[in-house]
Amino acid sequence: MATIGVLGLQGAVEEHLKSIMLAGHEGTVIKLPRQLDEVDALIIPGGESTAIRKLMDHYGFIEKIQAFSALKKPIFGTCAGMVLLAERLSGTEDRHLGVMDITVQRNAFGRQKESFEAELSIEGLLNPFPAVFIRAPYIEQAGSEVEVLARYEDKIVMAKQDHLLVCSFHPELTEDPGVLLIFLEMVEQSVSAPF
Ligand code: GLN
Repeated sequence: MATIGVLGLQGAVEEHLKSIMLAGHEGTVIKLPRQLDEVDALIIPGGESTAIRKLMDHYGFIEKIQAFSALKKPIFGTCAGMVLLAERLSGTEDRHLGVMDITVQRNAFGRQKESFEAELSIEGLLNPFPAVFIRAPYIEQAGSEVEVLARYEDKIVMAKQDHLLVCSFHPELTEDPGVLLIFLEMVEQSVSAPF
């Protein structure tokens, strides 16, 4: 069975592990770059992207995750994880992993909407998904290889590019496994046909 690593530097790490286990898969916390050699896929959780970035630099994760992505191993970035995967961040020259062809606007839903829940219609899911947004980013611009999977009020909040999946919200905070199952399907495909 495929093993899913959850980057365990900061943020909603335990919640992701719990949902992976509830979905019947094996999850493991990644605290050091070399542990990436032992997993088939990676989840970069929500939290605070600047804090996660500092810790990534400290432990030497940037190049290791970029190499993991170059091997086409599935990576799922939720919320801050989406910010970290983006090639471009709106209004700044900064970027972190820079592996997905998207421009992301951080904390993008305004003060009055710092945190909210919305029923989203998601490509590939039959039922609306209860999405929890917490100081969420959205995708301002997506490259031609990027498939848009969901929008909220016209803003792109979930997308896929090849082996990369991102969403603005926190799927691990609700009981509906739908979004995780989309990722697990990508993982299954990559494990059975790695290239
Ligand atoms: N606003 C945060 C950031 O840019 C993300 C928030 C979250 O992950 N819930 O890092």
